[in-house]
Amino acid sequence: MDRCFCGREGAVFLHYSSKHLCEQHFIRMFDKRFRKTVRMGKMISKGDRIAVGLSGGKDSTVLLHSLAELKKDLPFEIVAITIDEGIAGYRARTMKPAKSECEKLGIEQHIFSFKELCGKTLDDIMKKDREHIPCSHCGVLRRYALNKAARELELDKLALGHNLDDMAQTVLMNIMRCEPSRLARLNEPLTRNARLVPRIRPLMMTPEKEIAIYAMLKGMPIERVECPYARFAFRGHVRKMLNESEERYPGTKFKVVNSFLEIEDALRGKYGKTAVISECSSCGEPCSKGVCMFCRLQKS
Ligand code: SF4
Repeated sequence: MDRCFCGREGAVFLHYSSKHLCEQHFIRMFDKRFRKTVRMGKMISKGDRIAVGLSGGKDSTVLLHSLAELKKDLPFEIVAITIDEGIAGYRARTMKPAKSECEKLGIEQHIFSFKELCGKTLDDIMKKDREHIPCSHCGVLRRYALNKAARELELDKLALGHNLDDMAQTVLMNIMRCEPSRLARLNEPLTRNARLVPRIRPLMMTPEKEIAIYAMLKGMPIERVECPYARFAFRGHVRKMLNESEERYPGTKFKVVNSFLEIEDALRGKYGKTAVISECSSCGEPCSKGVCMFCRLQKS
């Protein structure tokens, strides 16, 4: 039988390090890595007011719980922000657990919707738009809504549930689309615009599968529902490619993200000047060109 180093029966196999861990040591390793990521990235300081982008999916729910645990040792505030994109049969199912987890942890939650933001749900937008894929609208609107909400609530940082898989996908997507200046901004420690709330990703070194296992072992109520628009995304293609590589060459996702972390300073040195963040000439929100993507998509 495959056993943990402590002699107990192994519950989780970490294929990238060829280790079996029992439940207890898996949870300990998970929590330790979470805290190390926060510490190494200097993500949270004493007294910070942290916004958590909470969708109710496994990543953001685990993020909320892990931050609530960390808060017992490092005094800071947590406020959850949930965005309802207006995707029938999908978002409503994850909003319920998001609300109940906030109530359970005593965390204030604010809910905003695309409908309030631009008068339309994502479903309404996609009925008319044949030019863009749903994720283009959704990503732009969600980033815009989260940043605006966090800033208006006077929160210092915005914590996102992006995991190792998301990070590795984003690095490769930026390379495959030849967008080095976007890649240079991916993990920027400090914002260069007062209207842009700095983003932190405390789960960026945690594989997606381990987040799912952790949520299950901790008994978190996770809805296993996939967005009906996910199949249109370029990200889906990159995800499949990375999962296949990981299967054949364990540790690939860590290697992609670690390679990026090794070169990010050099990338910022080269592209930092071209990636200046100014204000949209139409709505005043942060943007890198004259009119922001949100306003351009509203007019398309
Ligand atoms: Fe939005 Fe695309 Fe994610 Fe669906 S898959 S929630 S449309 S970004």
